[in-house]
Amino acid sequence: MRYLIANWKMNSVDLDAWEREFINIVSSQNNFPKSDELKLIVCLNLYDYYILSEKIKTSKHEIFNKISLFAQDVSHHDEGAFTGQISSKFLKKAGIEGSIIGHSELRENGDTENIVFEKGLKLKEDALSSIFCIGEDLEILENNKKKSFLLNQLQAFCKKNLSPDLLAYEPIWAIGSGKEADSENIASAVSIILDFFEKKKIDCPILYGGSVSKNNIEEIISIPGIDGCLVGNSSLEGEQFAIIASKIKS
Ligand code: PEP
Repeated sequence: MRYLIANWKMNSVDLDAWEREFINIVSSQNNFPKSDELKLIVCLNLYDYYILSEKIKTSKHEIFNKISLFAQDVSHHDEGAFTGQISSKFLKKAGIEGSIIGHSELRENGDTENIVFEKGLKLKEDALSSIFCIGEDLEILENNKKKSFLLNQLQAFCKKNLSPDLLAYEPIWAIGSGKEADSENIASAVSIILDFFEKKKIDCPILYGGSVSKNNIEEIISIPGIDGCLVGNSSLEGEQFAIIASKIKS
C-alpha cells in the first residue's frame, strides 16, 4: 500500500473545483491507482471537513469515495478552558479519522517533543490515527547532526507503547521552499528511521514531505523505504494532486 497525504493548512480551497479537477484526471486515465493500492488522506479544517465529507460520501468514484479526512492538529488536553484548541474526543465525535502531529509549523509555535508525545497519546486513547512529522532544519543538516536529531525526535515519541500510524520525514528547509531534499538525503533519513523502527519492533510506513510536486514524485517514490508522500502546496489544486497520485504505483 502507498500513501498520499494532502495538507491544506489554512489555505482556502475551492472544494467544487478540487473535486471536479480530481475526478477529471481519474476519468481520463485507465490505470489510475485503486483504493487498495493507494490510500489518500486530506488534512483540512473543520469547516471544509463538513463539506468535503458529504462529497466523499456521495461520490460515484471509488478512489474519491475512500479518501480519509484528518485534522492538522489536536490538543494535548482532554477538555476545558483551552481557547481555539480541539480535543481528540471532539475530532472523533465529528467523524475525523486522525491528525497530523509534530508538523514543523506547530513545533515552531511551541510544540515541544513532550507536547507532541502527549498529542499522540490523546489520539491513541480515542482510537484515532497519527501522522507523526519529524525533520531537521538547515543548521542541523549542515552541522552533520541530522542522525542524532532525528533519533531524539523518534525516541521522545516512541515510548510507553506509543508509535505512529504513519511517519512523515519532512526536512524543514524543504517545506514550502520549492527545494525538495535530494534522494541521498531522503535515503539516509529512511535508513535512520528504519533502523530505529526495527530495534523497537515498530511497523510504520515512512513518507516524505517537502516540496513534492508532479515533477519530482516519481523520483521520490522510487527511493527504497519510502511508502508515500505528504504534500502541501501541490495538493491545493485537485488536478495537481490527482496527477501526483496517478504517478504513484505500488
Ligand atoms: C507540508 O506542509 O508539510 C509540506 C510538505 O508542504 P510543501 O509540500 O508545500 O512543501
